[in-house]
Amino acid sequence: MSALELPETVDVERLVSHAGVLEGQLSAERLTRLAEVYQVQSALSARVAFDRDSQGRPRVGGQLAVALGTTCQRCLQPLTLTLHREFESVLCTEAEALALDADPAADPEVEPVVVGPEGFRLASFLEDEALLSCPMIPHHEFEACRAPGAAAPAGDPPPAGTRKPFAGLDKLLKEKPAEDGSH
Ligand SMILES: [Zn+2]
Repeated sequence: MSALELPETVDVERLVSHAGVLEGQLSAERLTRLAEVYQVQSALSARVAFDRDSQGRPRVGGQLAVALGTTCQRCLQPLTLTLHREFESVLCTEAEALALDADPAADPEVEPVVVGPEGFRLASFLEDEALLSCPMIPHHEFEACRAPGAAAPAGDPPPAGTRKPFAGLDKLLKEKPAEDGSH
């Protein structure tokens, strides 16, 4: 199955005026910045929609997915990260972005993206979004990890110095809600 390759840049005004939707991929060889840090194992697939927000500003939103190979920081074995990210940004000129930065009433959740005279750099934007969703400390799911400490019973912490104390804590809390002392 060959998906449509997404363009490097797109004309925002044209897409916004038609509420345009682009679906396609950036093939692995185009993901040069991700490839500096990871083994890129798939194309980046994305669905990107253009419209206007309640204030009439052009807006881009959608989802992306890509598979990246790296090393688990617990067991040092190979690990595939399957990233899924949803994104939404307001598109503006450089002057508008500076004004938004300086405006104390601006919604801090809205991330402005500057569109230059060459158009909206879609490929670069999607690669940025993928980089933003990469974990700081990649590791396997708890059950799949081969690190000796990873499968230890609750209350038996791994030796000091082998892990960052809070790495993945939120995940552990979610995955192990009621296992303390149950066996
Ligand atoms: Zn692991």
